[in-house]
Amino acid sequence: MTRILVTGGAGYIGSIATHMLLEAGYEVSVLDDLSTGHKDAIDTRARFVEGSILDSDALTAALSNCSAVMHFAGKSLVGESVEKPDLYMQVNVEGSTKLLDAMKVAGIKDIVFSSSAATYGQPGDAPISEQSPTKPTNPYGVTKLKVDELLASRAVTDGIAAVSLRYFNVAGALQTSDGWLAERHNPETHLIPNIFKATPSAPLQVFGTDWPTPDNTCIRDYVHVLDLIDGHISALSIMKPGTYQVLNLGSGSGYSVREVIDTASRVAGRVMPSVDVARRAGDPAVLVASIEKAKKVLNWSPKRDLNQIMQDVVSSGA
Ligand code: UDP
Repeated sequence: MTRILVTGGAGYIGSIATHMLLEAGYEVSVLDDLSTGHKDAIDTRARFVEGSILDSDALTAALSNCSAVMHFAGKSLVGESVEKPDLYMQVNVEGSTKLLDAMKVAGIKDIVFSSSAATYGQPGDAPISEQSPTKPTNPYGVTKLKVDELLASRAVTDGIAAVSLRYFNVAGALQTSDGWLAERHNPETHLIPNIFKATPSAPLQVFGTDWPTPDNTCIRDYVHVLDLIDGHISALSIMKPGTYQVLNLGSGSGYSVREVIDTASRVAGRVMPSVDVARRAGDPAVLVASIEKAKKVLNWSPKRDLNQIMQDVVSSGA
């Protein structure tokens, strides 16, 4: 039986990965310091080590009997990264370095990393391919790119097998026999959960209505979290010692903020209140993935569209 270490397994994406890995027949260990995650989101079938990726002892304990790592743990808010760049360097870059060091001691070579479209920055290309230039526009993107570079260099120096999956906008929820696993961030900054939190007295703020797009709001690529994790599980079978591979995971289609609000309103059967406000710092106008490489290399394609994302978020009651 193959045991996978899921770092950040109490978070939104990590907890869903844990559940799906267990359902796919893997054993799972979770390492999470519960700084932003929720203990009740961790599948009870997983072995849970409470601790930080900055703590070598916790890493050693968590890696016991594992043969591969899915590395989700990290700080992930663009706005916070602008205010606290040192924290992002410490947790994301130093934490990942410590994880790789502990993997080396334990003789574990396979790692799938949660990278981000934020590594590309303000893209000139649409859609964005893995060959597009990487020019992150915020510290969060900088730290994700630094970890990508670290993995590339450790593939050469230590012979690790690394795959970086660059996420676009992840959304949706998973129903389990114990209830729904959904986004529970505090504060919530992401568009889709914020649409469902909106009320007439606290409407959704639409950040910027003067963008160079057809309806003047930003365009993003929303991928269902279940498709995203299917991509991670497929990545486990393409690991090659001494190589580093980078793959975009998105839907391959772009939707404007207004289109996302309209889809949510249609699926929920009520009009989601919104108000137009100024642009948010650091937002690029358009981010849409080319997913041709992931389709080919992982034999993967997303199966769930924006309607399905909305239906699952509505059903989850988030
Ligand atoms: N957005 C918005 N209002 C919100 C949250 C987000 O208008 O309350 C916009 C944001 O400017 C961006 C898109 O929705 O164009 C997606 O933002 P999100 O924070 O979900 O993800 P990001 O693209 O920043 O990773």
